Amino acid sequence: MNGNGSVTQIVPLAALLSKKPEELETMDNDELVAAYQSLRDQEDGARGSYPNIGRLYGTTLEREKDRREIRAQAESSDAEMHAWYDRARNEPCTWWLKNHLVAKHALETCIACGVCTSQCPAAHYFAEYNPRTIVDAALSQDEERLVELLKSDVLWYCGQCGSCIPMCPRENNLMGLVSSLRFLAQLKGYHLSSVRGRQQYAMRHLCGGNLWNRGFSLYFRNVTAEGHPDFGPRYARYQSEAEGQMIRLGASPDRPGNFGGRKLSPQTLAEFRSCLVSGGTLVLWNQLENHASEDAKKSGVSIEEYHNRVHREG
Ligand code: SF4
Ligand code: SF4
Repeated sequence: MNGNGSVTQIVPLAALLSKKPEELETMDNDELVAAYQSLRDQEDGARGSYPNIGRLYGTTLEREKDRREIRAQAESSDAEMHAWYDRARNEPCTWWLKNHLVAKHALETCIACGVCTSQCPAAHYFAEYNPRTIVDAALSQDEERLVELLKSDVLWYCGQCGSCIPMCPRENNLMGLVSSLRFLAQLKGYHLSSVRGRQQYAMRHLCGGNLWNRGFSLYFRNVTAEGHPDFGPRYARYQSEAEGQMIRLGASPDRPGNFGGRKLSPQTLAEFRSCLVSGGTLVLWNQLENHASEDAKKSGVSIEEYHNRVHREG
């Protein structure tokens, strides 16, 4: 049944995937979400797997379905949380540092010892990146400096590996601070000023789409041989046999069972999604969608063209 109380016909997968973005736009929200869901849950009885989970991954259809679903759920989520993020969007960055718990707890007094930088793989790789300068900018409470940081590519160079946390003598959580500042940049739209910042829109649909639809941010089909020539010629063979290898190791690709890549039960997925809703993730995704949509309009391209452009940019 769809949201209007009528029975939803299963639209053939090929017919839906071949629809152009403007054709998908003409489908109503309930129809689109229900069609996606029924396709996702079609089982291949002989193999005991759900092959459409993989076929729907990274498609225009999945992104359009997610936009509609996230918008509806974000708008109906907790009013108090919405009000808090609305306020945060309009307050100076210094307000965020005092009021966002992750940032606040991450900012104990830095003594500029440099240990975090010496342990940071991103600082070794990117000459411009230095975690100590991030905490220094935050501690400065200098609004202009903070805005400059939030608009820069540098903010996105941290790999969120966590190596800096156990090493800090003042127990600062640099990784948490970077993550909190990234949230703020996207809330305010400052991320649109940098290439890596704009690419968060593609990441939101890649990793965020996986999280929302599969329960894992990294899905085993993410890492393609074409996208990673650096993995060498043997990787293509490994990838073509990935499902079989996973099954031999006890995993359950696109089927109920164990380990990453398994098909989550509808109940587990619903519980997981409720954590994303109550934790504010949907507010962030919806805000990213609004910023992307405005930016796309300014350049005179559709949202799908915009997605593909930022994905390839840089
Ligand atoms: S979490 Fe970020 S800042 Fe910390 S060590 Fe890793 S890359 Fe560097
Ligand atoms: S390790 Fe901690 S105290 Fe030392 S520079 Fe880094 S954040 Fe500051």
